Parts: sequence; C-alpha cells; structure tokens
Amino acid sequence: MAIETIIERDAFYVGGSWVPSSGTGTQDVIEPATEQVIGRIPMGTADDVDQAVVAARLAFEDWSRTPVAVRAELLEAIAAGLAARADELAALITREVGMPLMQSRMIQAGLPVTSFASLAALLESYPFEEREGNSLIVREPVGVVGAITPWNYPLHQIAAKVSAALGAGCTIVVKPSEVTPLNAFLLAEVIHEAGVPAGVFNLVTGTGPEVGEALVVHPGIDMVSFTGSTAVGRRIGALAAQTVKRVALELGGKSPNVILDDADMVQAVTGGMKNCYLNSGQTCSALTRMLVPRERLPEVEAIAAAVAEHFIPGDPFDEATTLGPLVSEAQRERVRGFIRDGEAEGARIVTGGAEAPDGLERGWFVRPTVFSDVTPDMKIAREEIFGPVLVLIPYEDEEDAIRKANDTIYGLAGGVWSGDPERAQAVARRLRAGQIEINGATFNPVAPFGGYKQSGIGREFGRHGLEEFLETKSLQL
Ligand code: NAD
Repeated sequence: MAIETIIERDAFYVGGSWVPSSGTGTQDVIEPATEQVIGRIPMGTADDVDQAVVAARLAFEDWSRTPVAVRAELLEAIAAGLAARADELAALITREVGMPLMQSRMIQAGLPVTSFASLAALLESYPFEEREGNSLIVREPVGVVGAITPWNYPLHQIAAKVSAALGAGCTIVVKPSEVTPLNAFLLAEVIHEAGVPAGVFNLVTGTGPEVGEALVVHPGIDMVSFTGSTAVGRRIGALAAQTVKRVALELGGKSPNVILDDADMVQAVTGGMKNCYLNSGQTCSALTRMLVPRERLPEVEAIAAAVAEHFIPGDPFDEATTLGPLVSEAQRERVRGFIRDGEAEGARIVTGGAEAPDGLERGWFVRPTVFSDVTPDMKIAREEIFGPVLVLIPYEDEEDAIRKANDTIYGLAGGVWSGDPERAQAVARRLRAGQIEINGATFNPVAPFGGYKQSGIGREFGRHGLEEFLETKSLQL
C-alpha cells in the first residue's frame, strides 16, 4: 500500500499546546516493510525537556489534588478516544513497526485502550488510605514522571506508564522511541481532546542520549519509568542515582519455555513458537529458549520445522502474512549476525537461516529460524536476539531443565508445558522470572508485568503498576 503524503510533525505537546522545537534537527520515520520514509519528527533538545518539565511541575499542584473520580473519568475518556481511532492507530503502528495488521488491531491498538479503561476502573476501588494503629497511611503521587519507551509495542508501553501515572495523580513527560514516534502524537491529540488539563501530559521526541538523558538527570523529575534494553537501563539507573530518583525499569529477556516430558508435544511446540515469533520475535517477554527432554529432541525438531512453514513473511497489510519485517535495518543486521554466530558456534539450523526469505529482498525481513543442539554457553542461548529465532536446548531431567531455565542474567518471563497442571505449577514456582505462562495460558493485561534479575525493577499494569507511581505517607493521629 503506497503512502501518498509523509506525516510531518513539527511541534511537541507541552503545557497543553503544540510548541515548536527549540532545535532545528529532524528525523525521518521509515516503514520497515518498504524501506520508505513515512514521516518526519522534530528532534528535541535539553531546552525542550526543561520546558516540558516546568509545565509538568506547574500542573502537578492541581492534578495531584484532583478527586480520584475525576481522574478516572478522564482516563475513561482517553480510552474512548483511543478506541474511536483504533483503526487509524493499528494501521499507523503497522507502518511504523511492521507487525501484521490483524495483530496490530488487537495488540498494538487494543491493549492501550484496555490499559486506560482498566486503570480507570481500578481507581474506583483502590484504597488510597488505610489505618494502622494511631496512624492514617495515605498513598500520594510520587510527582513528575519522565517516561522513556521503546519501539516494539510503542503505544502499549507508553499507555502502561501514562495510565498509571495519571491515575496516581502524577504528571508526565514522555519521550517515545525515535524509531516509532508517530503513534505518540496521536495519543497526545486524544489526551488533549479528552480534556486532560494542560501540563499533565507532555510529549517531547528526540534521541536517547540527548532528550532521554536530559529527562533522567533533570532535578524537576521525581521518577523515571523506562522500558528498553538492559544496557540503556543500567545507564539510566546510574544517572538517576545522582538525584536519588525513583527508577522503574522494564528491560530485556531471554525467557525459557520448559517442555516437560508429559506435555502434548505438538501443542507445546506450536504454542511456544507462536509466542517466540510474535511481532517477528521483537517481544521482550518472548519465550526464546525452548527446553526439550533430550530423548524427544528429534520429534520436537520435526514439529518445529513443520510449524515454521506456517509463518508467512511478507507485507504486513496482506491478510495472509503472519510474520512482518524487523523494525529497522540495524535490527535485521543484528539478528542475521546472531544467526551466523549460532552456526559458527556449532548449533544446527533446523529451519531458516541468515539469508532473506525468498522474494523479500526489499524490507527488513528475516526467515523464521530454529536452532537445535544448542548448549547453554552459546551466545545464541545467552543473549537477547530480538528476532524470529528459537533455540532448542536439550535437558536430561526436570532438575536439569529448571537449572538451565534459570541459567541466565535475565528473569522477565517463562513458560511451562505439562500434561499435569500441578507439576507445571510446581516447576513454574521455581523459575526466577516475573511472569510464567502455563500450557500457553493467555496474557492477562492487568496482571503485574516486570522482571527479576537484570530484566528490571518494578511492575507495570493493574494495581501493582499503579503503586509504582505512589509514595506512602503516615500521619500519626
Ligand atoms: P533501547 O534501550 O535502545 O531504547 C529504548 C528507549 O531509550 C528509546 O526511547 C531510546 O531513545 C532511549 N534511550 C536510548 N539511549 C538512552 C540513554 N542513554 N538515556 C536515556 N534514554 C535512552 O531499546 P529499544 O531498542 O528501543 O527496544 C528494545 C529493547 O527493549 C529490548 O532489549 C527489549 O527486551 C526491551 N523491552 C523491554 C520490555 C519490558 O517490558 N521489559 C518491553 C519492550 C521492550
């Protein structure tokens, strides 16, 4: 589908209106399926960040004391505004990210609506005050939040932060990924139309080192909420420590999927691969290490090869497509590099490989790839690849499976498959990660989401997500 006009954005949403950037830099937004320019955004500066933080601080005084019911109404209005523009958002995010349109509708455009609506509902019953002996304990907003987000589920990740921060009574300055920024401008329009007071939500685009770091070190920011890579998360944690800011980090993963010997192998492998290849493998919680009983490895390889054939790479606007491109040329080259590393390390390619899928030389496509005979010391078993690449790691017995599953610096997610739900739950409890799905159970958008170990600090979504943005005060009576 050709795009007639380029989406030109030339201003930031600050203090309730659109203000031009203080800098002159711009950046093109490129569609990964066609490699064509689809948009252009201003690249902000530290001055733009400062202006946005001042607006957010000013707004905090009133917003933090706004009745909870009023905040809930406004969150509902944002949910309704996003729902009304869902088709537009799904198509835009498919252009920016490359996810097949059908999936974008449900996930990229659908989940943000759920986040705002569910937070609004939660506010009605959340106990902001409780008694403890002679104390009244009150939960108050932490202050002005700086939010920095990635490109893989761009609006979903922004919505997770904005819904909870605004619900808590915080004001916020958002810096979206410069790779997929256009959807954030639509959110700003929706928030404006919903009638959210000026300065409560602010949007500045730009690079991580310039705009991102300016937010992180700004003395007017009380909390940084970051989703992105572990490498950048480490840097943000270190910089934020200078002003003792609260930091919430949602980082990377290399999540295990433990297939126990009593599992239905066809269901387990099919479910595990769908999970791994969702959004072309660009999902932080993707189950990318499949742990397989050694004696069942040949059977699992055969199933995996057959399942991989059902993933059809191509134009994400084509209904037959089930695997879109990777988001950028840099990501595609990174993923191809990992595939070559895997071969060089002695892992065996069951299906896929580093060359482009047939007939898809334009667009940043990668073949759905499965490696077998992978050992836990290999780079492809240890590092986050962020592409459609699954590794099969054989194990000897249940203890060995659990040990190998936990043998990672990450701890974001995991999966367990077994014919016996109690056995599966017992194994799930021993995995050191923030969310474990049993037998392919569905994602719960209000369950706490976040990482153990180097996958992060804190939780998003639902009650736990709201509490990240609250301070606790006790009044002795
Ligand atoms: P990234 O870390 O490169 O960038 C994320 C954001 O941080 C972008 O907005 C970027 O501009 C900004 N940034 C970059 N350098 C910065 C700096 N020095 N200071 C401040 N901000 C800076 O990540 P990405 O490539 O956009 O996204 C992919 C990564 O995000 C993967 O590692 C993935 O696992 C992770 N991720 C985690 C979750 C989660 O919830 N745990 C969700 C989605 C993605």
